Amino acid sequence: MPAQRDYYEVLGVEKTADAEEIKRAYRRLAMKYHPDRNPGDAEAEARFKEAAAAYEVLADVQTRQLYDQYGHEGLHSRGAAATHDFSRMDINDIFSMFGDIFGAGVGGGGGRSGRRGPARGYDLETEVTITLDDVLKGCERDVEFTRLDICDKCTGTGAKPGSKPVQCPTCGGQGRVQQSGLGGMFRMVTNCPACGGRGQVIREFCEGCRGKGRVSRKRKLTVNIPAGIREGQAVRVQGEGEPPPPEASPAGEGIRGDLHVAVRVKGHDFFHRDGDNLLLEMPISFTQAALGADLEIPTLDGAAKLTIPKGTQFGSAFRVSGKGLPNLRNGRRGDLVVGVKVEIPRRLSAKQEKLLRDFAETEDKSVLPESTGFWKKMADLLGG
Ligand SMILES: [Zn+2]
Ligand SMILES: [Zn+2]
Repeated sequence: MPAQRDYYEVLGVEKTADAEEIKRAYRRLAMKYHPDRNPGDAEAEARFKEAAAAYEVLADVQTRQLYDQYGHEGLHSRGAAATHDFSRMDINDIFSMFGDIFGAGVGGGGGRSGRRGPARGYDLETEVTITLDDVLKGCERDVEFTRLDICDKCTGTGAKPGSKPVQCPTCGGQGRVQQSGLGGMFRMVTNCPACGGRGQVIREFCEGCRGKGRVSRKRKLTVNIPAGIREGQAVRVQGEGEPPPPEASPAGEGIRGDLHVAVRVKGHDFFHRDGDNLLLEMPISFTQAALGADLEIPTLDGAAKLTIPKGTQFGSAFRVSGKGLPNLRNGRRGDLVVGVKVEIPRRLSAKQEKLLRDFAETEDKSVLPESTGFWKKMADLLGG
């Protein structure tokens, strides 16, 4: 049996991720690997199932706790049957479960009846990875994603061209049926089970979409990523999501959802980001620290000069104003904060050692541990 991958790793989240992040990560993977979007792709199916299994465990507070404590073992010993099997979820169900946060439900969720206004399709999410240079200047990125689109052959009806969907005999075209409960004590109106609420049924299926009215299609777009964007923020591309599902919009009318392009920012060899500021750890020699120096430092705009004073201490930081990243809103650039890391030589030539020994002779003894009372204080502390 192959080793089971860590569930956090599967979802690509930190162990400290909150419920929201876990949900988001799962949704992204589920959308990407769902079998409906990757017909015949065994690898995608395996990834989809793996993500579903991970989500099933991490979405539940109790099973997550067990998993955190005992790993996969903890789950086996629990012996409980799975409560939900996410791997059987229909792609539209995955959307609906996130309707609350991802906007599918906000503007009148796709296909939900009883709402005012035109039907709206589901939002999609995709991801791009950019560099700090891209954050500095802003950039364009091509994104490719798969979405359900209206089938050209049947224009979304699902019926074989030349044939037409016919009125649903079960609900008489209403899309809804009444059911009575408790021996006729009350009546309940529900979506018609025969036509799924469409009010029409298809006698001859369209071959292009097998009657679904929607087909999975690749789409390529160029997206503008504004300067100053942060990790995890998303660029919304209006109207590039999916059309409303067929039951809400048999003829493909209504509003498309949006595409959310989530941005990841790649780590940099030199710079760490801190909001709009950049942090740089700059190694300097101990003589530069002691004597002061004109340093050449890297910035995102190329090399720059930084003068450090005599007697610079380990960990001192210097601010180079305006060499950080632009603010997303006002474009004003943050600072570059240069922290110095004083390096002590690991090897000395005979000449250097001689010079240093001579130097040590001249050292002001008042700063050495013996004379500052450091050892006495420590002895008192340990003794007392
Ligand atoms: Zn079709
Ligand atoms: Zn019906």
